[in-house]
This record gives sequence, structure tokens and C-alpha cells, in this order.
Amino acid sequence: MFKTFLSLFILAFLSASVTAQVNVLALTCEHKVNPSGITILQPRLSWKLTSQGRNATQNAYQIQVASTPDFIAKSLVWDAKILSSESILQDYKGKSLQSGLTYFWRVKVWDNKNKVSPWSKSSKWTMGLLDQNEWKAQWIEPAIQPLPVADNSPAFMLRKSFALKGKIASATAYVTSHGYYELSINGKKVGDQELTPGWTSYGKRLQYQTYDVTDMLMSGNNAVGAFLGEGWFRSHIGWKRTNVPMYGDRLGLLCQFIIRYADGTQEIIGTDNTWKSTNEGPIRVNEIYDGESYDATKEIKDWNTPKFNDANWATVTVANFNNSNLIGTDGVEVKRVQELKPIKVFKTPKGELVADLGQNMVGWLRLTVKGLKGTKITIQHGEVLDKEGNFYSANLRKAKATLSYTLKGEGVEVYEPRFSFFGFRYALIEGMELTADNLVGVVVHSDMLPTGSFESSDPLINQLQKNIQWGQKGNFVDIPTDCPQRDERLGWTGDAQAFVRTAAYNYNVAAFFTKWLKDVVADQRPDGSVPNVVPDVLNPMKSPSVPHAAGWGDVAIIAPWTMYLTYGDKELLSQQYPSMIKCIQFLQKKIGPTYIAQKDDGFGDWLSYKPDSIGKLKGQKDGFTDKKYINTAFYAYMALLMKNTAIALNKPEDVKMYSTLFDQIKTAFNKEYIDETGKIKLINGKASDSQTGYVLALMFDLLPKDVKIKAAAYLVSDIKSRGNHLSTGFLGTPYLCHVLSDNGYTEVAYDLLLQKTYPSWLFPVTMGATTIWERWDGQKPDGTFQSVGMNSFNHYAYGAVGDWMYRVVAGIE
Ligand code: BGC
Repeated sequence: MFKTFLSLFILAFLSASVTAQVNVLALTCEHKVNPSGITILQPRLSWKLTSQGRNATQNAYQIQVASTPDFIAKSLVWDAKILSSESILQDYKGKSLQSGLTYFWRVKVWDNKNKVSPWSKSSKWTMGLLDQNEWKAQWIEPAIQPLPVADNSPAFMLRKSFALKGKIASATAYVTSHGYYELSINGKKVGDQELTPGWTSYGKRLQYQTYDVTDMLMSGNNAVGAFLGEGWFRSHIGWKRTNVPMYGDRLGLLCQFIIRYADGTQEIIGTDNTWKSTNEGPIRVNEIYDGESYDATKEIKDWNTPKFNDANWATVTVANFNNSNLIGTDGVEVKRVQELKPIKVFKTPKGELVADLGQNMVGWLRLTVKGLKGTKITIQHGEVLDKEGNFYSANLRKAKATLSYTLKGEGVEVYEPRFSFFGFRYALIEGMELTADNLVGVVVHSDMLPTGSFESSDPLINQLQKNIQWGQKGNFVDIPTDCPQRDERLGWTGDAQAFVRTAAYNYNVAAFFTKWLKDVVADQRPDGSVPNVVPDVLNPMKSPSVPHAAGWGDVAIIAPWTMYLTYGDKELLSQQYPSMIKCIQFLQKKIGPTYIAQKDDGFGDWLSYKPDSIGKLKGQKDGFTDKKYINTAFYAYMALLMKNTAIALNKPEDVKMYSTLFDQIKTAFNKEYIDETGKIKLINGKASDSQTGYVLALMFDLLPKDVKIKAAAYLVSDIKSRGNHLSTGFLGTPYLCHVLSDNGYTEVAYDLLLQKTYPSWLFPVTMGATTIWERWDGQKPDGTFQSVGMNSFNHYAYGAVGDWMYRVVAGIE
């Protein structure tokens, strides 16, 4: 401690004596570094200042945006000096931006001592296609397309050769698909994104990717090839595994190159009826939940190079879709972000060969193998070993999560799947005696910029933090999912709202949520209700029966508000505002004039503590909270957030309206649920005096001042009566520690955080968890598992305590 003070003192002394230089760095456009495919006409630009000195602030800035990287006068489209201390989300205000062009930009600032910084390093963004009419390519579909069935869903290959006539100044590819695609030019994969075109509410919003392919095309003969897989478009989504394709029964590709020649002319090459296709290639099975089978003996040499003769390939059909659902890439690109070497490959007691990656991760394995032609390696993925130490994957339910690779027998062969991903730590290997040298774990997720890290003197807490971060990596694959391994992997709105604030402390998730929230809007129903999963793939299947569960559908209000709190993004807030209003109006209509929820529908405090799930604690009171109580409390919270939003957006009428609504719900809530001693009443035999019951009432400001003190004491006595254990589920857990520390019980919050026995955050850590579990007792102290029906070992919701760790333990509010 003393050392820290001393060095701080020396630093302060030194900095005062040096004339500090201010520098500008970390330039972002629409929250992203050098983004491509921007379709916003006034993108917002942000930067950061650094200085060796203290108390440096910005008084003014100069910004230059140019159409060439040298910023010469004639290429400048905006050059302005602006007196402002703002450095985040500043609107572009130059000349109109042109479709498809790349813009370079840089900033310098004047600090509060009127010293000017040097120019920042230049940054850039590339515009997408600003007008639907600029799509000259046509949708193409392989002509014969049987619907995928188990063990038979080969990926298509599509191709075309073409000649370019002159010196290429620049070339850009715009690509999207129905299904997953992987594009290549002259034998090389285009870009470094994976699982494109991502997942959105396809009917209304389908992202296309924008790639700079200038260096991949050449004057003369070229070829373009694409693998086309089932993706989210046509896989059997959801646990029902219905054969009804969610979005359409035919896969398709839309791809167009815009080539600008050095002489100023332009040429467009796009998908049309001259392309050819086959499904006789090496990818024999591809399905998101089931995995991929690749038969290298069926590889088609040079298929994506100009020398290939495709005379035997089938013609494609041209499909007619109006392109009104096409959108640029709003979100954060999915990439291979990290690689892990197995920590061991070993034989289990059953005698099976298993690789251990040392970390429950999401992505896939890269195989590097050598062997006889026709040898088939099969790999199954699992998150945990059972209590005997054997491979276990029953909790993946119907997801086969299997990879298979058949060798071509021509020396060293390297393979990675393209159209499936897995949540796993263990890989069960059959067909060949592989060693750790044959395997690399490729970690794939939305490539978010890291924001925070958290380290303490307690190794278990540090592991908890790691687990929270790994939970985020694995479940932020273009959309926020509940889990990445079983036959689910859906955008559960409740999980997302529980975790959103923690997520923002770990990584920059502004663009990630900006994109997903537009899908929330796209899938919001006319009555204002918000589906429990977005993209909404459950309601078309009539499952589950509750259309908008409290704490789930409410994400439409909670997430934009959290984005505003975290990033100050008022524009996003005002864009979402109409949807937020629709959402609260839905609740008003549903709940009606009593202000008390009449239906005990929804998921309640999902997966709260249940005593009989573990023998030892039998007889203890469970953590149950009545759903009507929860539905009423969340209704009030939504009114409160609407009031806060209206204040932020400067809408005085709305402030009045929502604050009245909040007060009305609060009054009714107190009358209905709270007795004169501050205790939550038993209503119709249903108790709500649980930890979550008190937590929600306190967190959502539902109690009068004097009652608050009593309620907090009840909460604490419940925690104490359980020997410092929590009993909360998905809805109570994120707020539990906050409520304690906000009400004078920070010590109790620490007791909970540091608790090692079940139920607690550290219990899974003591069991060797490397991610956050779905259930407090996913694996019990004796090594047995919770029921296979629902037992994910990579579910971030309980990791929402990370927000308290940053804000209260580390003090970064
Ligand atoms: C998911 C959850 C989700 C829940 C709703 C589960 O199947 O995995 O995380 O929020 O259903 O009850």
C-alpha cells in the first residue's frame, strides 16, 4: 500500500513538472474500429485523449475526413474546428457520403491549456450500399435442394470464372446468403469473418458483408467460389427440431463485386444464372446443432480458381427477392479470436480417447493429421466429465455436436469446420489415435474490444471473473445467447437483460447491442409484446406459451437504458424509444387498472434455489417468489426506466406520465404485498418473501423509506438463516449484492460473493468450472449432475454479479 502511495506521489510530482503532451487515440466510428459496410449517413465518431500530465481535458478539436489516405485538400470531405469538450459519438457533418467509398479520418485537439496535440493516427470506415437499386446481382439458388435430414445435408458449392479487363484501382465485394456462406476468390478465403452473414430476424433484416478485395482480384482471369451451408436459415432450430424450415426452404447466395479500374471506369460482377453449383463436395453434413462431416476424398481441386472446368456442375436458378430486408453490418464481426492447445489427451476409465482443452470454450477444433486415405476421425464435444472421469454430453440433449473428417491420405491435412460451432472443453476422439499436437481449439465469437479486467488477491474470485468473461465470449456470437452447446443457443431476452451491464464492463458491446436491439424492434409484435427469444424462432413454433415474460420481453426497455448509462448513446435511446413505449403500453394493457399483475405467467425467478435439488440442504426453505409479484415489480421497474428515459430525452410530458404510472404501481404494490412490519405478505398461499422478493422491491425503489430499512433487514436475516447463502434465480441474482451494498450491508454482499459452498458463485469454481453454469448445482459436490433436460455449463446469467464486482468492489461506477 505504502509503495503505491509513494509511486503515485512521485508520478504526480513528475507530471506537474513536465509540460504534458496531449495525444489522441482509439478512434472509433459507430463504436467500431475501421468498420466496413456503414449505411448511416452521418456516422458518429469518437476518440480518446491521453496525456502524461494530469487534469488534461479537451477544449476544442479539429477533425478531417478525406476520400484518400493522404488528406490532400481536394480529397477532404469535412474539415472543421469545433469548440467542444465532447469526444464521443460526434456526428459527421461533412459532404454527403458516397456509397461504397472508404473515408479516412483523423483528429487533433486543443487541451485546457490551449496546447495542441499532433494529429491522431488516421482511421477509416467504408460505406455500404446506400441504395437498394445498387444491388445489380441476382439471388441465386442451387437448382435441386432437398431439405436437410439427419446425416445428409451436404453444403453446396457455387462458382464462376470471369475476366477483368484493366488495372484495378479498387474492388469491393458485397455478400450475403440464405444460410451460411464462405466466399473465396482465386482459391483464397475472403476476409476473416466466420459464420456469415450472422443471425438477424432474416425476414426483416439480413446483413450483408462488405469486403475490400482489391488485392485478391487481378487483371485477366479470376474465379469466385462460395460454400453455402444451412446456417440459422435452414437448420432445425430449437429443441423441437421441427422439419419446418424457419426462414425458407431454399438456400441462396447474393454476391456482387464492384470493381473500379484505374482509368475511372467501373464494372460489376454479380451472382446470376451463369453461376454453377454442386453438392458433391467435401462438406457432407452441416447443421448448427449437429456439427459437420467433411470428406476430404471428395474435395474438388481448384474449384475456386479460373483453371477449373465446371461443365459438369449444375446450373443455378435465379430467385426473385426484393432486397428491402438487406442491411449493412451493424454488429460486431464474428472471428476466430484466440487459439487454445489441449492441456492433455488421455484415456478415460472407459478407455475412450479424450482431449481436454482446459477451458470450456466456443468454436471448434482445427485438426492437423496425416494418415491413410479413407480413415474417418469422429469427434464429439462435451463440457464436463462425469464423476467417474468419463466423457459426458447428455446435457447437449438432441444436439449431436459431432465433427467428422475423412482423410484423403495426401500428406499433412488441415481441417476446420465452417458451418457449425460447439461449446466444449472435452473432445471424444474416435477413428485415430490423435495427440495434443493434432489439435487446436479455435475460439470464435463476436470480436469485441476489451473494456475492463478485474483482478483481486483472491484466486477463486479471479477464476470467477474469468468464468464470467468466457461465458460472455462463448455466448456473444453475433447475438446474445443463453448457451452455446445444446439444441438451443437462442437469443433469450431474459438472459441478455440480466447480463447486459456486466457485459459492458468486460467488453465494448455498444455495436453488438445496437444491432441486436434492432432485431428486438423487428420482432416486437403489433401489440407491443416482445418475444422471449430474439430472433423470434419460438413463437412461430407456438412455444413457449407466454408471449412476453416479465424480465424477458422487458429487455426492450432495460437494454437501451443500460446502453445509454454505459455509453451515453442518446441516439440509440431515442431510436429505441418508440419500441420502449410500445412495450410499456403492452404491459399497461395487460396488467390493467389495478396495477397488480393478475396472471402468474412468465418464467418467474428462473432457476432460483430449490432445496430438494441437493440432499444435504433438504428441509430448507426454497427461494421461490410468486410470479404475480415478480410481474408487478418488473412492471413498476419498466415505468421507472421509462421515466428516466423520458428525462434523458427531454420529454417532460412523458416524464410526468411515467412518473405518475410508477407512483400508482408503487402504491398498489405496497397495499397488495407489504404488511405493516415491512414484510412481504403471503397471498393466496403463495409466498414472495424470498431474497428475490426483497431484492426486487428494494432495487426498483418500490418501498417507502422506513419500510426499506425493515425490508433490507429481512433480506439479510434470510441470507443469515441460510448460513450466508443466496437463493436467487435469473431475476434476483443480478441485483442481490447491489441491494445489500446500497442498504448498508456491503459486508453481507461480500459474504455471499466469497461463499464457497452451494448455492453460491464460488461453488462451481471450487468444482473446477471454467465458465458460469446455468444452475447453482449443475454438478453436485458428489460429482453427479443436475437433470439432463436443462444443465448447461456455459450460461452467463448468474455471472451478472460481475457488474457489482466492477462497480462496488473495484469502485468503477
Ligand atoms: C434457457 C434460458 C431461458 C429460459 C427461459 C431456457 O431453456 O436456456 O436461459 O431464459 O429457458 O425460461
